[in-house]
Amino acid sequence: MTDTLTDPQQSAPATRELDALIIGAGVAGLYQLHQLRERGLRVHAYDTATDVGGTWYWNRYPGARFDSEAYIYQYLFDEDLYKNWSWSQRFPDQPEIERWLHYIAETLDLRRDISFSTTITSAVWNEDTGRWTVTTNTGEVINTQFLITCAGMLSAPLENVFPGQSDFSGKIFHTSRWPKEDVDLDGKRVGVVGTGATGIQVIQTIAERVEELTIFVRTPQYVLPMRNPQFGPDDVTAYKDRFQELRETLPHTFSGFEYDFQYVWADLTPERRLELMEEIYDNGSLKMWLAGFIEMFFEEDVSEEVSEFVRAKMRDRLQDPELIDLLVPTDYGFGTHRVPLETRYLEVYHRDNVTAVNVRDNAIARIVPEGVQLADGTVHELDVIILATGFDAGSGALTRIDIRGREGRALADDWSREIRTTMGLMVHGYPNLLTTGAPLAPSAALCNMTTCLQQQTEWISAALDHVRETGAKVIEPTAEAEQQWVEHHDETAGANLISRTNSWYTGSNVEGKPRRVLSYTGGVGDYRERTLDVARAGYKGFDLR
Ligand code: NAP
Repeated sequence: MTDTLTDPQQSAPATRELDALIIGAGVAGLYQLHQLRERGLRVHAYDTATDVGGTWYWNRYPGARFDSEAYIYQYLFDEDLYKNWSWSQRFPDQPEIERWLHYIAETLDLRRDISFSTTITSAVWNEDTGRWTVTTNTGEVINTQFLITCAGMLSAPLENVFPGQSDFSGKIFHTSRWPKEDVDLDGKRVGVVGTGATGIQVIQTIAERVEELTIFVRTPQYVLPMRNPQFGPDDVTAYKDRFQELRETLPHTFSGFEYDFQYVWADLTPERRLELMEEIYDNGSLKMWLAGFIEMFFEEDVSEEVSEFVRAKMRDRLQDPELIDLLVPTDYGFGTHRVPLETRYLEVYHRDNVTAVNVRDNAIARIVPEGVQLADGTVHELDVIILATGFDAGSGALTRIDIRGREGRALADDWSREIRTTMGLMVHGYPNLLTTGAPLAPSAALCNMTTCLQQQTEWISAALDHVRETGAKVIEPTAEAEQQWVEHHDETAGANLISRTNSWYTGSNVEGKPRRVLSYTGGVGDYRERTLDVARAGYKGFDLR
């Protein structure tokens, strides 16, 4: 990031004039494009990828699949669009999800307004014209009134993690940059770094295929077994029949899933609590996390009891004391960061071709030509290294673009000090910049993403309608409104045990990133009402000029 405020590209002639430019052609970008085009705006989307899909384009690593039930990870604005696609199982895999997003793009005829293989490199606000000048890596210069980022919550991968990566004599892949062509892992010595939701899906999928699998474990995860039945025609009819019900329910629950918290811990006897935990655990979904006991997020004793229930399940499966010590979390509470669903993940560690390496106290020091070297000098020889090392979540997708707001301020600089937004939808100092999947809104942390992204894009479309109807050209949150949201967000997050756990939820996975709970933790339904209240009050707290 440069410090200079002059941007040579700002004076370059625009190659395209737009009302709205959308960055990203994933779940949010596709719907945003559809909405604005329906309104008659000159709108165009750009994506680095060669096709639509966003997260589901990039994350094509072995084993990638939904953790949300397929029939809720859906667009709900059009009944035919919903009903003319049939899912094959409860939690389908990435190829099927990618095909579904192709179906969406084709049905809504979206590709004609998307430039693929094109990365937005900078966006500079011009206060005199009230417009953005946006440049791409292909040399396009676009002049647009509104800039809408649909760039993903988890899309900026942490790829260069260790010194020496370029010296490795084998192949290194980050999971979210997995090649389209088949990667031959058969008969190979493969190492996986990272045991988050991604690493777990990779590990359980490739263990049987590879000659040797070395898993470098630093922080273990609470895991829940997934129940993933195939859907026959009757199942498909049954979920499609629920369309209206789902449309009415999903936007209002705590996490945008079909289920919600329904029990009060204090009202239940210990026996009944256990009975209910068994019941929701057996559901084989994220219900144990997002529809069990909300007190688990706020009260340490409840958190401990629920955590111990899950630990006991894990211990039963692991048996071996060394594995239990390595793989069962003890120093943070269940659900205080993302709970992965898995299929025989823990059993992988019992296989003869699998070695678990504890890198908690003996960290990975560097990559050497032969493999992975630990702090004590041990080298694990490998042919392939898979980095399931996660993302610079929430802010990374935007700070990797040179975004300059009023008076030349740079978003990357501002957010290197403190990550702030107004409801995750706009940022003070950056007029006409509207954001989805951004910090301080509900997102992947505690939300079924399609529910949140539909709501956020719909709010944005309505805000643009309002600006145009009032004859204004520019919308920007006031400093006071932003401060109020940040305080409300922090107060809500501070009460939640999530704020005490280290993970991408708090930004602690990226060195130097200012710590703040990135996602709004007050609930999806509550957030929706708050953002709608602002709109109903004539965009209270937003300056229109
Ligand atoms: P993640 O949860 O941030 O996990 C990254 C992993 O890499 C952690 O185990 C981390 O260990 C490890 N790691 C990073 N740097 C390391 C180092 N220097 N040495 C050793 N280990 C290191 O990332 P993710 O698994 O990609 O998941 C990110 C999010 O994507 C998930 O939380 C979820 O929201 C989403 N996701 C969703 C799905 C789905 O819906 N089906 C699937 C996959 C992912 P530490 O914890 O010790 O830092």
